Amino acid sequence: MAVKGGRPANRKRKSGSRSRRPARRKAWLSLLAAFDWRRLAIVAVALLVVGGGLYGTYHWVAGHAERALRDAATARTEPLPSLRQAAPGPATRQMEEQPPAEPPTQARTVPEQPAAPLAEPKPRPDVTTAALPPVAPSDNPETRQSQARKPVIAIIIDDVGLDIPAARRVIRLPAPVTLAFLPYGKETAKLAGDARAAGHAVFVHLQMEPEGKADPGPKALLSSLSDEELRARTAWALGRVPGAVGANNHMGSRLTANAHAMRIVLGELDRRQMAFVDSKTSAASVAEASALSMGMPTTARDVFLDNQQSASAIMAQLDETWRIAQRRGSALAIGHPHPATLAALETWLKTMRGQAIFVSATDLIDVRRCQHAKAGDAAMACAEAERVAAASGQR
Ligand SMILES: [Zn+2]
Repeated sequence: MAVKGGRPANRKRKSGSRSRRPARRKAWLSLLAAFDWRRLAIVAVALLVVGGGLYGTYHWVAGHAERALRDAATARTEPLPSLRQAAPGPATRQMEEQPPAEPPTQARTVPEQPAAPLAEPKPRPDVTTAALPPVAPSDNPETRQSQARKPVIAIIIDDVGLDIPAARRVIRLPAPVTLAFLPYGKETAKLAGDARAAGHAVFVHLQMEPEGKADPGPKALLSSLSDEELRARTAWALGRVPGAVGANNHMGSRLTANAHAMRIVLGELDRRQMAFVDSKTSAASVAEASALSMGMPTTARDVFLDNQQSASAIMAQLDETWRIAQRRGSALAIGHPHPATLAALETWLKTMRGQAIFVSATDLIDVRRCQHAKAGDAAMACAEAERVAAASGQR
């Protein structure tokens, strides 16, 4: 039909110009009539179906690719799934739940925290350490000072009890000190009671054998004694000073170097829960190390105040005590009831008011134990040290 209609039109065009318009319209009409609309519809639907499919596939693929890329980027900063299961603490969960809007923060914090439980077979103590705020500040002397905590100083006055007026003068000192009583003084019990009533601490000044010929006094502890006699003499000395909370050695350069003898003597102190301060009359002393190995409260002397009994020499030693206290957080000085020493202390203790905290030797041991102890057992020593600092700071 189309072929038939087309031919006469072509012929007419060729034959004359007057019949050209109607012929063209006729050709269009015949073309439209000849068009297969059903086939067009089928093609259009097919195109729609294929196009839609392609579009959908593109979006699905693009979406997945984007997610995969994002997951890959996060995987580099996040712990492995097995780690997350190992440490499902609230902190980890919080981090996992954070929107991925802050990748830099995540990258810094996430790998550190879950890594710890892997490295440490026991992750719990670490968490406990971090959760113990009173321990951490006391560990470091600098931190403690930065928190307005002052250096702690303990002063032991040795050889007390024989010169009674001198002992009375020690008791009148304007800050708490520790009076170490020789056990054989006649008024030791009375003086010890008065000292404690005045707020001082009381120690037993244990007479121990020195190198050389100096006499350590009656019933001294000697390396020639049997274990039994050493025990008996120590018990006698400790019984002579009521209310004593610790002891330090009088002389003893020979005995404190004798580990066996020291363990016997210290055992008697330990049974009574008393502390021991090594006066360090010899560099070879093993007294502090022995006490430490027995788990006893102990420390060693930092400064002797009055090896030279002149005011200037004593003041220089007091300055040295203060320097050590500032540097380490605490210092322990030992002096004697000499007039020069007591005169220097009467002045110095007043000028140091507000700068240092003066404590007993046992309280200083608590402060040092708190500084050095590891997390677990530090809690008690530190609680005690905190109480000491708080109470002494009010004086
Ligand atoms: Zn002494």
